Amino acid sequence: MPTILSTTGEAAPMVDPFGRSIRYLRVSVTDRCDFRCVYCMAEDMTFLPKRDVLTLEELDRLCSVFIEKGVRRLRLTGGEPLVRRNIMSLIRSLSRHIEAGQLDELTLTTNGSQLSRYAEELAACGVRRINVSVDTLDPERFRAITRRGDLRVVQDGIDAALAAGIKVKINAVALKGVNEHEYDEMIRWSHARGMDLTLIETMPLGEIDGDRTDQYLPLSQVRRDLSERWTLTESGYRTGGPARYVTVAETGGRIGFITPLTHNFCETCNRVRVTCTGTLFMCLGQEDARDLRAPLRASEGNELLAAAIDEAIARKPKGHDFIIDRDHNRPALGRHMSMTGG
Ligand code: SAM
Ligand code: SF4
Repeated sequence: MPTILSTTGEAAPMVDPFGRSIRYLRVSVTDRCDFRCVYCMAEDMTFLPKRDVLTLEELDRLCSVFIEKGVRRLRLTGGEPLVRRNIMSLIRSLSRHIEAGQLDELTLTTNGSQLSRYAEELAACGVRRINVSVDTLDPERFRAITRRGDLRVVQDGIDAALAAGIKVKINAVALKGVNEHEYDEMIRWSHARGMDLTLIETMPLGEIDGDRTDQYLPLSQVRRDLSERWTLTESGYRTGGPARYVTVAETGGRIGFITPLTHNFCETCNRVRVTCTGTLFMCLGQEDARDLRAPLRASEGNELLAAAIDEAIARKPKGHDFIIDRDHNRPALGRHMSMTGG
């Protein structure tokens, strides 16, 4: 299908069967990671063979076709995006769409381990904000959760990003009995540096080594608890993602809550995800997917790829149905978060 341009020259968005315009694409650029967070990966992971993973050139083509089809925000994730070899060449190349005004935002979700090295170059490529995952401010607990991360290195990386003028949002997965007593300190730490803090409920994705009902902490409970010590005011602030924000009067900063299990945010979902093997997931919580690697590799032109994307968007489902309880302790989906990148 040819791209339809509006009178402003902007590509008309793809629209799904429920009338939602698809403006946001998340791309997992690798399934590999230098950490092994307990809720995300097993200790002993088998990663994909290289031939199955899209090359950087293929990722560029794929993202560019989505942009031609009206995607305005692009988030690179993983695995850990910044451990992919030559990742900066992809980011540099994609930044041309920002310069051309076709893309509003190029961003990434990272564990921060490589930020000291890349922060300035990211800023030079037009990356204005990033999400960094930090679940605890205790170095030993950080090592235990990530199984190999060094909190100091990540904090230095965050400082480098801030110094380069990149806005940082901290993502923390809410883990019962692990970090639930740290949120006050994390609010103070992040807000003092001008960073919003987003808490995320654990999602039942992929086989891990532990028991998920042990980790699950409903954020409705966390919010009630926080409001006993902080003045929280509902905020209309949105970042295009699923987080709902409150403002903290005492700090002036924001706390976001991502509650896929207790609050259904599907009605306003404007996003789709592509894995590093080129599989398009129309919904994070559903198995239905469309392979884009075959059409991508079948020809040098982008017509087959564009047609496959249209066909997939036409069957984006209405929503997901995650459940974690004693009867549903199996992962709702077999794939790990590092496949679809959150
Ligand atoms: N490696 C990068 C990072 O950690 O930020 C990007 C990929 S990671 C899969 C993206 C986000 O998903 C992280 O914030 C991580 O904490 C979150 N995540 C991973 N597994 C999760 C799970 N089972 N439930 C909820 N969030 C999860
Ligand atoms: Fe790696 Fe991110 Fe998964 Fe942790 S959450 S193991 S840093 S991909």
